[in-house]
Amino acid sequence: MDLSWSDSEETFRTECREWLAANVPTPPLPSGDTRDGFARHLEWERTLFDARYAVVSWPEEYGGRDASLWEWLIFEEEYYRAGAPQRVTQNGIFLLAPSIFEFGTPEQQARLLPRMASGEEAWCQGWSEPNAGSDLAGIQSRAVRDEGGWRLHGQKTWTTRGAFCTHLFGLFRSDPEAERHRGLSYFLLPLDAEGVTVRGFERLDGDEGFAEVFFDDVFVPDDAVLGEVDQGWKVAMATTGSERGLTLRSPGRFTAAAARLIELWRARGGADPALRQAVTQAWMDAEAYRLQTLQTVTKLADGERTGAEASLVKLFWSELDVRLHDAALVLLGPDAERADEPWITGYQFALAGPIYAGTNEIQRNVVADRVLGLPR
Ligand SMILES: Cc1cc2nc3c(=O)[nH]c(=O)nc-3n(C[C@H](O)[C@H](O)[C@H](O)COP(=O)(O)OP(=O)(O)OC[C@H]3O[C@@H](n4cnc5c(N)ncnc54)[C@H](O)[C@@H]3O)c2cc1C
Repeated sequence: MDLSWSDSEETFRTECREWLAANVPTPPLPSGDTRDGFARHLEWERTLFDARYAVVSWPEEYGGRDASLWEWLIFEEEYYRAGAPQRVTQNGIFLLAPSIFEFGTPEQQARLLPRMASGEEAWCQGWSEPNAGSDLAGIQSRAVRDEGGWRLHGQKTWTTRGAFCTHLFGLFRSDPEAERHRGLSYFLLPLDAEGVTVRGFERLDGDEGFAEVFFDDVFVPDDAVLGEVDQGWKVAMATTGSERGLTLRSPGRFTAAAARLIELWRARGGADPALRQAVTQAWMDAEAYRLQTLQTVTKLADGERTGAEASLVKLFWSELDVRLHDAALVLLGPDAERADEPWITGYQFALAGPIYAGTNEIQRNVVADRVLGLPR
């Protein structure tokens, strides 16, 4: 593995850095999980799109630059280094889109990807239900065959930014006779379809982006199915692999946070060796994660696929994120309790990391079963 960047990659890095320095909004935008903040983030994402930075690794016809995965990593490093806003379109761009590239028809790709890239359509994910979270194959929402399409019934919950998004992707049971993972289909639909009710609710921190989504005899045409009918589990596993693995949590996010932690240490660090150790460990973990990602990208660039090891990656980044923020709070001492302190907001969100994208207990089950081959 060659860890050096080529001249053209360095030039790309400089271009990204200069553009971000000139364009990242200051002061930072309000939280993207509030209605006003979401709208402001979408404006920012439109600016990114107009400069062709929204989806650098996508083909040009969909608004990208045909950039390599290496260049995408460079862009991400620069994005987080610049302190640019969190991407409120991330569930579409980073989770759904890789599955559309893999399983979508050319017509679905042409119809959905450009509007996703520009932020004109913002996607949320509909997996969890009141009685099915970890046990995703136990979902009860169903799709019933109708002339030219399907009728959807049921309920999803914990839909991140569902209260503000325009579209939803999710799993529905299309064959009631089939067992568990079989007989599920992956649907793509607008949230303004007749029969859809979106009920937003607040999180503990007061942000209001979560939603419950209800489906009451919602008609969707045949081309709302991504991949084959009754084969939705396979497509869903590809999407969750993107969430746990490469695309959602690029290492730039953690290397930038580790760099900020070191600045904090320089400003406030005392002689406490345990604290110095925690800061150093956080930096080393972020660096290890970066190197591991380079290895993954090397594999993908060589045409290999990644699979259940995405669960290991998810365990690593979610636990690293908690430790890193924990070290920052100790450094800040009582100042950490100021409501406007970004480290406390980051800490609260880091605590959710071991839950969303499939809980860490479930990831350990997957690693035991499918990576290590341990007996059940
Ligand atoms: C910030 C955040 C954002 C989210 N966004 C979305 C979203 O956009 N869309 C969406 O669909 N969902 C979303 N979720 C929901 C998330 O996917 C679920 O919370 C998660 O999958 C766990 O499901 P559950 O809450 O039903 O818990 P349960 O499945 O009831 O689990 C409860 C506890 O039991 C443990 N457990 C369950 N089964 C096992 C087992 N077999 N072995 C060992 N331990 C087990 C779990 O690890 C957990 O600790 C989000 C959650 C959070 C926190």
